[in-house]
Amino acid sequence: MGIDKRLISTLEIKKHKEKHAPKNGSVWKCPICQKRGIVNVTVKVVLDHDKAEGKIRDFICDSCNTGLGRFKNGENYLKNAIDYIASHK
Ligand SMILES: [Zn+2]
Repeated sequence: MGIDKRLISTLEIKKHKEKHAPKNGSVWKCPICQKRGIVNVTVKVVLDHDKAEGKIRDFICDSCNTGLGRFKNGENYLKNAIDYIASHK
């Protein structure tokens, strides 16, 4: 059983964070929920990645990260949720 090459290494994630993470105390806006806050003061920023494909996506807030996780990081689940909400309006 070989190592799954699609998986992102912890080192790769660490390097990306060091290079690209929004600075503590700076104003930052989540690309999903549009929440604007001060990094690590009023908003916690996490690096999101596609677990299945092993690709780093972008920094999002921890609430949205939890949300994506609850929907199994799957576009189908998210689309179903949007359709479901729309069907009950
Ligand atoms: Zn968010």
